[in-house]
Amino acid sequence: MTTESYLLEVSDLQVEVVNKDIKNLHISIMPPDGRIRVSAPLDMSEESVRLAIVSRLTRICREQKSFAAYIRESRKEMISGESHYVDGIRYIFKLIEVNEVPSISIKKKTSIVMRARPNSSSEKREKVMHEWLRIRMRNKLEELIPKWEEIIGVNANHYGIKRMRTKWGSCNSGQKRIWLNLELAKKSPQCLEYVLVHEMIHILEASHNERFFKLLDKHMPTWRVHRDMLDEPPLVHVDWTY
Ligand SMILES: [Zn+2]
Repeated sequence: MTTESYLLEVSDLQVEVVNKDIKNLHISIMPPDGRIRVSAPLDMSEESVRLAIVSRLTRICREQKSFAAYIRESRKEMISGESHYVDGIRYIFKLIEVNEVPSISIKKKTSIVMRARPNSSSEKREKVMHEWLRIRMRNKLEELIPKWEEIIGVNANHYGIKRMRTKWGSCNSGQKRIWLNLELAKKSPQCLEYVLVHEMIHILEASHNERFFKLLDKHMPTWRVHRDMLDEPPLVHVDWTY
């Protein structure tokens, strides 16, 4: 199959266009980084592709926003009885108010217990939780990054963890800098590993082209399973055909 790919700037969106031997235009919003990929018929001109994207901008932005909404709704009041996910496992949150330095522990594999000062705000308690999740995630990454650097044959110069509204991860391939969404600490460990590998491969190949997916298939043949786990719930991978 003949394919040809190029990058298109539409409004402030970066779109990867792949021309293929297909009949209909196909738009995907790709996890983990929310990038937009368009497969277009071979004879479709750049200008027609641009117009097609412009006419679907509302929908594309709506789908990207649904991810943002998920991140927003994942906010908790941090009170006893809530469900909290860690490493893809659901725990019941229990708050113990006590006058000491805040701490978190998992008890009996079923509950997550936070000891926090009486009358601490829910924002403060959420911050304690985020810090705890961040440390767990950093510890995992300290093992995963050297492992995958060796397998893939790249060096990630910097990595960071932050809360992102529209992406699971991102990569600046020039600077070899990777960002991972703190929300991944709530998903199963394979999801974190998949996003990390995905972003590390972007150091070698910035776009979602054939070479990128070949590398991904080679190093992590099961990546589609992990990507699908990221999608449930909420919907963050959108695919539709015209
Ligand atoms: Zn990507």
